[in-house]
Amino acid sequence: MLDLTFTPPAPKVIAGAKADWELVIGMEIHAQVASNAKLFSGASTTFGAEPNANVAFVDAAMPGMLPVINEFCVAQAVRTGLGLKAAINLRSAFDRKNYFYPDLPQGYQISQLYHPIVGEGEVIVEMSPGVARRVRIERIHLEQDAGKSIHDMDPSMSFVDFNRTGVALMEIVSRPDLRGPEEAAAYVAKLRQILRYLGTCDGNMQNGNLRADVNVSVCRPGAYERFIETGDFGHLGTRCEIKNMNSLRFIQAAIDYEARRQIAILEDGGAIVQETRLYDPDRGETRSMRSKEEAHDYRYFPDPDLLPLEIEQEWVDDIAASMPELPDARKARYMADFGLTDYDASVLTAEKENAAFFEAVAEGRDGKIAANWVINELFGRLNREGLAIGDSPVTAGQLGGMLDLLAGGEITGKMAKDLFEILWTEGGDPAEVAAARGMKAVTDTGAIETALDELIAANPAQVEKAKVNAKLAGWFTGQVLKATGGKADPAVVNAMVSRKLGL
Ligand code: ADP
Ligand code: MG
Repeated sequence: MLDLTFTPPAPKVIAGAKADWELVIGMEIHAQVASNAKLFSGASTTFGAEPNANVAFVDAAMPGMLPVINEFCVAQAVRTGLGLKAAINLRSAFDRKNYFYPDLPQGYQISQLYHPIVGEGEVIVEMSPGVARRVRIERIHLEQDAGKSIHDMDPSMSFVDFNRTGVALMEIVSRPDLRGPEEAAAYVAKLRQILRYLGTCDGNMQNGNLRADVNVSVCRPGAYERFIETGDFGHLGTRCEIKNMNSLRFIQAAIDYEARRQIAILEDGGAIVQETRLYDPDRGETRSMRSKEEAHDYRYFPDPDLLPLEIEQEWVDDIAASMPELPDARKARYMADFGLTDYDASVLTAEKENAAFFEAVAEGRDGKIAANWVINELFGRLNREGLAIGDSPVTAGQLGGMLDLLAGGEITGKMAKDLFEILWTEGGDPAEVAAARGMKAVTDTGAIETALDELIAANPAQVEKAKVNAKLAGWFTGQVLKATGGKADPAVVNAMVSRKLGL
């Protein structure tokens, strides 16, 4: 069972610190909604298109153009909310967040400040087998992405690309429930996994498809518990926000740096200034971008072009009825139905596509054996060659067919490995390949028995030794395997050796 207490971990001694400090982290994650069209226009969202190829008049803020909500994006946000066990708000509303920037033709971003579509939910983040943390979700709202300024195409000019302008984002805001760099990274990874299972975000962090603003503060032991008891943020330290992180490794490095920076200031008698910072991966440090005093006054107000968004409970129920199985449920099922370990079940369910492949192999077969082959041979090989499961030269059908030969005793484990290699490089039907290559286990127990009887008769001293120390019986197995040219199944030979020697 998972341990879901809020008990923070024991205070960590942070390198270079004089006293004990604890970390408090809350995240705002921007996840691009998986949708072919933008939030308020029919323009395409294809990544990597020619600059300004995917821009509708409304995206370019042409006069008189009006936004029209994309129902599919709303459904995706609802699906995400349901996946995070969150409250769905049947009535939400869009607000204008006003600021000037060349990549924002409207002069404002349409967002949901006051009435988000999704309310409180949770993400269960497993830190080690059986130990998990419940990270509370505060809200999810829908908003538009901005365009992109291009400064490196010309020495004297800047360009803008509006392709991303108006693409739907879900901003997923967590409570400050994360207590260290590893937890923060594990949270992003888990959220990404859930979104990918739901099909609501591709989670391609390299493309900026999922990016995180990481809020970090430090406090003395005990302060966080008082915050949890009272809900008063005053017990926590002043936070700094590290913007636009799109790598799990950098998120950890940035939090680590930021914690040490803040502690050094506090231990020096200074105070933390609330500000937005940027992480520089080349230098491994965060740098101030803007302080709170310089923060924008966004002059939020309800967007007069859009009516409040009202959805029906029935529609939400329909979406709820079509939810896919999520990672935690699938993992628990693999452990219960196939007898897999926590670790193996985690590996197999990490990606939906991997899980589907495994299930196709395991269907009607021994799940544990299927898991071993999929994880060790197949995933191992894919990793080494840098291939995704979709590019696997060996299909689930081929691997399954090979496992059937193995289970039926038609080939030995050693032959199976050779056969896998041939299927990988040359392809083919497992049974046909095995037959063509003369891969056939000696199943004729008569032949095995004759070989063994001869050995026993010729080696009485060895027999006596094996009777005293059963481990020495392995010698007989080895000799029989040799005598049968490696085509006998070691398990069958072993059993016969034990029986004949009366072990
Ligand atoms: P804003 O939208 O101005 O950035 P929010 O109050 O919405 O401010 O908080 C943003 C994020 O910062 C949330 O994820 C929240 O949990 C987190 N947060 C708030 N206070 C702290 C703190 N003292 N330390 C760490 N994270 C915090
Ligand atoms: Mg923020």
